[in-house]
Amino acid sequence: MTIWFLTGSQGLYGEDTLAQVAEQSRHIAERLPVDVAWQPVLTDAAAIRRVMLAANADDTCTGVIAWMHTFSPAKMWIAGLDALRKPLLHLHTQANVELPWASIDMDFMNLNQAAHGDREFGFVQTRLGVPRKTVAGHVGDPYTAARIQAWARAAKGMAELRTMKLARFGDNMRDVAVTEGDKVEAQLRFGVSVNTYGVNDLVEAVDAASEADVTELVQVYGDAYKLAPELLGERHESLRYAARIELGLRHFLEAGGFTAFTTNFEDLGGLRQLPGLAVQRLMADGYGFGGEGDWKTAVLLRTLKAMAPGGTSFMEDYTYDLTSGGELILGAHMLEVCPSIAAATPSCEIHPLGIGGREDPVRLVFDAEPGPAVVVGLADLGDRFRLVANEIDVVAPPQPLPNLPVARAVWRPRPDLRTSAEAWLTAGAPHHTVLSSAVGTEELADLAEMLGVELLLIDANTTTRQFTKEMRWNQAYYRLAKGL
Ligand code: MN
Repeated sequence: MTIWFLTGSQGLYGEDTLAQVAEQSRHIAERLPVDVAWQPVLTDAAAIRRVMLAANADDTCTGVIAWMHTFSPAKMWIAGLDALRKPLLHLHTQANVELPWASIDMDFMNLNQAAHGDREFGFVQTRLGVPRKTVAGHVGDPYTAARIQAWARAAKGMAELRTMKLARFGDNMRDVAVTEGDKVEAQLRFGVSVNTYGVNDLVEAVDAASEADVTELVQVYGDAYKLAPELLGERHESLRYAARIELGLRHFLEAGGFTAFTTNFEDLGGLRQLPGLAVQRLMADGYGFGGEGDWKTAVLLRTLKAMAPGGTSFMEDYTYDLTSGGELILGAHMLEVCPSIAAATPSCEIHPLGIGGREDPVRLVFDAEPGPAVVVGLADLGDRFRLVANEIDVVAPPQPLPNLPVARAVWRPRPDLRTSAEAWLTAGAPHHTVLSSAVGTEELADLAEMLGVELLLIDANTTTRQFTKEMRWNQAYYRLAKGL
């Protein structure tokens, strides 16, 4: 996957100056904090259109960074920008950091004029309504670098979405509203293809796993986790069956080219356990997952996993500690929390599950690693999708939780639980989310811009009143922005 680096100029400068432009542009490209494929300096409309069409057609190109090193009359860019279908970052930078005050002359002025070349470019992008991220600053500046990196991660997620395939085992949990959604609109807007398979197709794959493969995988479990003694003793058969589920699920997903999936505890067919351990391990390997048929959260999870390695998990707001001044959210799920967010080696345990009516499922149990993170949810409002994200601080549980048989995360939402929860509920955001310490709100904002999807952000500066106003403005904006 590559990003293309485009440099704008024009023919009037003459060959000597354009050679200097090219050299300085290469130097900037080398200093960028992301790998780029440098493209020859663009000086006319035909070349600009051709490079944009080539970027569209190249599956390995995730996005385009454009910089107007000199003045590039922007009518030259109209056809190209109109054709571009890849994410765009407008980098407003210049070759030099300091001005050479003592030696500056008109030659220097004419060579280093991004200050006005990029303004011309900004105008034409706005005039055409081109979605993009604008980043101003020298490439050597850490903040500039971080913002470019965030955009590059979002572009990776975008590329992943465009070809993503999701398998649902069973449909939606009966009567649940927020996990429903428009799959045709999702395929148009995001690119992801979402389809349902009979759970017994999965059961076939599970039953087909060989005893030798099961034995080998159980060995892997023993090396990776602290196994509860009963799983090596009287309940060993349950652990072997959990391994069998993982083998079958993995085989099914690999054979079909799926990178995300959902399960539904109401529709388990011939499965003897609700998949717990298998789902946790597949998430750790980068698969997207949603419980109760929740394909939207599974899509979001896979997208964030593709954007950045690190701690990212399926999550559900479960219960609160409402101690005044120390309010906390305890998040978990019935079983399926990804060990990529674990603070320490998970323990592998077996406990009854009071739901689903099957044999006791095997699962990994752990606390989430403390630190800053984000929770993000995707809702379908009927006329559009809405992303809602909350910046949070994951904390160590204030006390041990010896009787809680599932993996969990405890966090303090910003700015505080009251404001966060009021904003989240007012936005109609879901109870299923993705929790990530690997992806931040800048990446999410960039992704939302690329997708043309609304993002409401709840952070340290949020107030309920301002948030409600923003929602009202967005409501008008997203309806008008649709056009006729
Ligand atoms: Mn759930």
